[in-house]
Amino acid sequence: MATTVAQIQTSVSEFVAKPRKMLIGGRWVDAVSGKTFETYNPATGEVLAHVAEGDRADIDLAVKAARKAFESGPWPDMSPSERGRLLWKLAELIDQHSEELAELETLDNGKPVYFSRIVDVPTASDAFRYYAGWATKLEGSTIPISALGAKYLAYTLREPVGVAGQIIPWNFPLIMASMKLGPALAVGCTCVLKPAEQTPLTALRLGELILEAGFPDGVVNVIPGFGETAGAALASHPDVDKIAFTGSTEVGKLILNAASGNLKKVSLELGGKSPNVVLQDADLESAIPGSAMAIFFNQGEICAAGSRLFAHKSIFDKVVEGVANFSKGFHIGPGIDPANNMGPLVSKEQQERVCGYLESGTKDGAKAVVGGKRIDGPGYFVEPTVLVDVKPSMKVVREEIFGPVVTAIPFGELDEVASFANDSIYGLASAVWTRDISKAHRLGAKLKAGTVWINCYNVFDSALPFGGYKQSGWGREWGKPALDLYTESKSLCARL
Ligand code: ADP
Repeated sequence: MATTVAQIQTSVSEFVAKPRKMLIGGRWVDAVSGKTFETYNPATGEVLAHVAEGDRADIDLAVKAARKAFESGPWPDMSPSERGRLLWKLAELIDQHSEELAELETLDNGKPVYFSRIVDVPTASDAFRYYAGWATKLEGSTIPISALGAKYLAYTLREPVGVAGQIIPWNFPLIMASMKLGPALAVGCTCVLKPAEQTPLTALRLGELILEAGFPDGVVNVIPGFGETAGAALASHPDVDKIAFTGSTEVGKLILNAASGNLKKVSLELGGKSPNVVLQDADLESAIPGSAMAIFFNQGEICAAGSRLFAHKSIFDKVVEGVANFSKGFHIGPGIDPANNMGPLVSKEQQERVCGYLESGTKDGAKAVVGGKRIDGPGYFVEPTVLVDVKPSMKVVREEIFGPVVTAIPFGELDEVASFANDSIYGLASAVWTRDISKAHRLGAKLKAGTVWINCYNVFDSALPFGGYKQSGWGREWGKPALDLYTESKSLCARL
């Protein structure tokens, strides 16, 4: 698209024009096989960039480089304060290149550049700044023990787990890379990062900034490539000590199996089908736009999306009408045009998948109050959609759609909505909209989800733990708990 090209920075055009290599041991190299793959601009369907295609052999080289950097050289001898300073420097570099990173993210993923600027890039730099602070605060404890009636000095140390493999998805590529690398580097691990094949570009640009910040060679390695090849090789690699994965529940289970060979530590942030509950007394002026953005932010391509909207029967029609009207106000188009606030889905495959769910919903008897189909023309656009007349057994209610599609369901009593909301294999996020503080916390306690937002939605923060109950995952990322994912605890006991 001519306008698209005209609006982007020269540095971004230059970055995508050059075939991109992978980062191993501090150097940019081609794939061992010499293969490359294409990434597409989802707003146009045109080829955006050519990228080195990592496979088992490249993963092996990257793991060797990460192992070497973990065991020898400057990294293991670096003081926590020096590690913190490098992380902070990286955060500053991200901020200095914020416009470039925002445009690159938008071209690769499709999301509106408006959101890349105010959400993706600042959240990424904040992640590094937040974990920079933790580098100097990784404390063990001293423990009074009584064994055998003797005197001891007993204490624990927190040590980095070793080489961490990190596999990330395409919906928030830069944020995902940063939230994975931040805690791992803060505690002294070394990393092999595999970005999603749909969106490798910001992770590769981040790799350049990591070198510029001064991280020693091999501390961070970035291997673009496909899930079944590069991803699977990383998850099963016998010299990787920990694997962190964000993506679908289906692939999470594959990762778990692959990791079992050497029993590497595993953390998983997986799918969701999050309930968003609007009680009778909610302030609808905020609950309606809040519920619309709960599902339509990032085109619904967010694991925490409020994809099941429950509204009290007395206000159900008003809430549904409000969310439907809100969705009619979106400017849908290429994300690189700042006037647009909803972009395309990430790929043709994702567009097909979402449209498949829309068809299945219609076949099962659901009715689209608004939207309900793809938008013709170039690019992978789908209309924001609100489905009513849905039943708990329908696929559109049970399965994660990962697109701008919400199912709306009325309820009567508070207890009833808790059981509706919990009727899912997932338990990632949830929300309650109400003016009644007691009801908010009563329902909040009943919801089986890793996050409960009250009178807000999609509030993420580097300091706030995030992760899932049930099949939404294992472990908590962000905040202090993420440090546990990358450390071992060692007990030392000296007889005095
Ligand atoms: P989606 O289905 O939305 O593309 P996935 O869960 O398939 O999400 O992808 C998330 C990440 O997992 C991507 O980086 C992808 O390459 C990777 N991946 C996919 N399949 C595998 C696999 N079998 N083993 C390891 N990684 C995989």
